[in-house]
Amino acid sequence: MAVPKKKKSPARRNNRRSHDALAPSSYIECSNCGELKRPHHVCTACGHYDGREVVATSGEPAA
Ligand SMILES: [Zn+2]
Repeated sequence: MAVPKKKKSPARRNNRRSHDALAPSSYIECSNCGELKRPHHVCTACGHYDGREVVATSGEPAA
């Protein structure tokens, strides 16, 4: 097994971890009901995708 020759300093460790943060997931407004939804996903509020209803929902879309 390869073994590191030198211990990494706390500054090097922290600089490496400066890129480890997770980016927040993006949201856009649904073009049908205006609810926030994830891009390229069916709207969970009204079941619409690409301008048409693809998943039947219990009620009408909330305006
Ligand atoms: Zn919607």
